[in-house]
Amino acid sequence: MQSPWDYPDFDGHEAVHFFTDLKSGLRVVIAIHSTARGPAAGGVRFWHYPRTDAAVADALRLSRGMSFKNAMADLPVGGGKAVILAPEDRSKSPELLAAFGKAVDSLGGAYITAADVGVTVPDLVAVARRTKYVSGLPAAAGSAGGDPGPHTAYGVFLGVKAAARRALGKDGLAGLHIAVQGAGSVGGGLARLAAAEGARITLADLDAARAATVAGEIGGTVVGVDEILMTEADIVSPCALGAVLNETSIPQLRAPVVAGGANNQLARAEDGARLMQRGILYAPDYVINAGGIINVVLEYLERAGADEVRSRIERIPARLEEVWEESARSGQDPATVADWMAQRLIGRG
Ligand code: NAD
Repeated sequence: MQSPWDYPDFDGHEAVHFFTDLKSGLRVVIAIHSTARGPAAGGVRFWHYPRTDAAVADALRLSRGMSFKNAMADLPVGGGKAVILAPEDRSKSPELLAAFGKAVDSLGGAYITAADVGVTVPDLVAVARRTKYVSGLPAAAGSAGGDPGPHTAYGVFLGVKAAARRALGKDGLAGLHIAVQGAGSVGGGLARLAAAEGARITLADLDAARAATVAGEIGGTVVGVDEILMTEADIVSPCALGAVLNETSIPQLRAPVVAGGANNQLARAEDGARLMQRGILYAPDYVINAGGIINVVLEYLERAGADEVRSRIERIPARLEEVWEESARSGQDPATVADWMAQRLIGRG
């Protein structure tokens, strides 16, 4: 097994903690990439990995991503991530969640946890019994907190509008055709907001019933999961999986704009340049999809109201504009430019 320093995404991590609790079976990696802007904030993922080094690599990659996302959202926090190595049957006991809470607590606030893949709000409530360094708990009406999905969808909607303005010269989405991959919390939310503004929506989801329900509500069309990215549309919005923009899919895209909420949309760094070479405007994923983390962090830090969350999310289009402007000036693709800007914001540029 390689040393953590040798992983490609190690990239100057401040700390990588390995916790084990023999009684509950907890094994967790807590990676802290940067605390330059404040305590490291990022969710905990509960996932079964065939090899332990894959869990470490995931924690490092995700933690670095949180540093960049939080900095670009102008949040006063750093970036970190926890990865719990789930058993093959993915069972999760209250004892395991308590042991995770204890591990987070032992870091004294250097890392603030929240939900990620495989972790629910009730899980976080259990974790919160052992530590105060947790966010994304159920929210009172009018306050920050609760499900981040609708906040992410709102930010993506605003980012899609900014992209339409920049690439297509359109001030609203009325009459535009948007192809949305994934009809879940983010994709479904985006589809509803865009349709309410008069956009025509085409949707695809592995869960065909889910796609049909959203399409039925908004008068959209459903296509197969293999077709959605190649739809002849004004905007393609990946809101399902990562790595969907790659050397195979990019040459087949038929939309001039890619702007969606999925994390890690580019399979490789060079795919950003591939999009640019094709004249496709790309909205870097961690810039456009920051609405959820804005909600989570404001809940934790400020006990802010829903209005403050909304107004922070409404700054996402300006940040995207900054990235696109710098991209136009430098000739570098927007994803590379966003990485540069984020590195500068965490004092590493
Ligand atoms: P979700 O589970 O609610 O929805 C995802 C949907 O994608 C599901 O309905 C699933 O069936 C569908 N899907 C999976 N594979 C697919 C495929 N190959 N083709 C079409 N559909 C497919 O998840 P979500 O919260 O909407 O998150 C969607 C994406 O946005 C993820 O990449 C997530 O990491 C990212 N994201 C979410 C948030 C948030 O606040 N929820 C924040 C930032 C980023």
